[in-house]
Amino acid sequence: MYDCVIIGAGAAGVSAALTLKARGKNFILLGNPALSAKIGAAEKVTNYPGLPSAEGSGLKQAFLSSLSASGISVTSAQVTGVYDMGGYFGVLCGENSFESKTVILATGVEAVKPVKGELEFLGRGVSYCATCDGLLYKGKKIVVVCTSKELEEEAEYLASLASQMVFAPIYKGAKHLSGNVRVINKMPAEIRGGARVQEVAFGGETIPCDGVFMLKSALAPSALVPGLKTEGGHVVVDRQCRTNLNGLFAAGDCTGRPYQYAKAVGEGNVAAHSVCDYLVENK
Ligand SMILES: Cc1cc2nc3c(=O)[nH]c(=O)nc-3n(C[C@H](O)[C@H](O)[C@H](O)COP(=O)(O)OP(=O)(O)OC[C@H]3O[C@@H](n4cnc5c(N)ncnc54)[C@H](O)[C@@H]3O)c2cc1C
Repeated sequence: MYDCVIIGAGAAGVSAALTLKARGKNFILLGNPALSAKIGAAEKVTNYPGLPSAEGSGLKQAFLSSLSASGISVTSAQVTGVYDMGGYFGVLCGENSFESKTVILATGVEAVKPVKGELEFLGRGVSYCATCDGLLYKGKKIVVVCTSKELEEEAEYLASLASQMVFAPIYKGAKHLSGNVRVINKMPAEIRGGARVQEVAFGGETIPCDGVFMLKSALAPSALVPGLKTEGGHVVVDRQCRTNLNGLFAAGDCTGRPYQYAKAVGEGNVAAHSVCDYLVENK
């Protein structure tokens, strides 16, 4: 059982990890080992202290160096659910799961709004996780919407299973996927069906399908954690980064604006300190 599972290796998650390490806690940092694509995205960062006129890529390298200097590695995982087990948490990542006394959500925000019909058909043909649900669609027709290059590996896995796949990457420079794959470079307008998904409308064209995968960097926090209080899509936290669920903390963009490195780093630090206090209080 971990003291803490940190979900998301962005500015907030990295900061929380550095503090938990300094405090000698037993934790795991889940996310992308190459860190959040957003950390490296800025052309020029002028508002982060200590690194005048850094480029996003330079900031990312500095974050990676901090992790490596502290002996912290990121465990590659996409978390699909966090469950309050009454006194501890179960963190689900496809086929793997972790148990932890506390959790820090540092998942950032997904700029892409849900497609019409996406939430309605969630679990009835719409999935967010290739590893969890991919095999259900072996030999079937699927549509895969991908919001970030870092998720292409999941799309590739789905292409290897499906009999026919429409791949809709909504970023530039998508890689060519092998298999029976047709590319449509746009977001679907609507997912439709009856008891289950039957088709996806892309503007003028309708694609009949058995399932739809929406591969996103960040799921809505309320979809990730049942019972979590959110407002306007953001996790509601107090000054100690505590959520409405005991032992569950949140930090960074996922708690609301401003979406900035410094705020994310600051909240990651606060959340880690709150975890330490919680562990003492709940020995
Ligand atoms: C183009 C661009 C330029 C920017 N310029 C600036 C700037 O100049 N100054 C500034 O202060 N800010 C800037 N920002 C904002 C800054 O990048 C963000 O505020 C910051 O990265 C937020 O950190 P975070 O850790 O909260 O979230 P993120 O950096 O988004 O990290 C969250 C990570 O969690 C991962 N994750 C999400 N869900 C899961 C899950 N279920 N399982 C596992 N991992 C998950 C995501 O994939 C992501 O890697 C810029 C952003 C962009 C996009």
